Amino acid sequence: MKSGEISFSLTTKKGKTMTKCETCGRQNEGLFEVIKDGVSRTFDSFDCAIEAMARPCKNCGCLITGNDSLDGDITFCCGACQRQFAELGNKLARTTV
Ligand SMILES: [Zn+2]
Ligand SMILES: [Zn+2]
Repeated sequence: MKSGEISFSLTTKKGKTMTKCETCGRQNEGLFEVIKDGVSRTFDSFDCAIEAMARPCKNCGCLITGNDSLDGDITFCCGACQRQFAELGNKLARTTV
């Protein structure tokens, strides 16, 4: 599995020990498993999964749940944001020198 790859498993965890949502701690029947980088995590809703796993775009601040553009450790929601942020950085670098 590639790094950053997310897979969803919609099998309910009935009968297993881990039966509560990692984010809100709610216990119910509709839990699902999200596997990212080989690590399995359990949530009761996509809201909770997004809250736990999404990263904010460095440029516009929107939450990224899937196809992100990575520039080292900095995350962007799209290539346009990545470019905009780089341009801003260049401008700042020019004005401070
Ligand atoms: Zn939850
Ligand atoms: Zn963005």
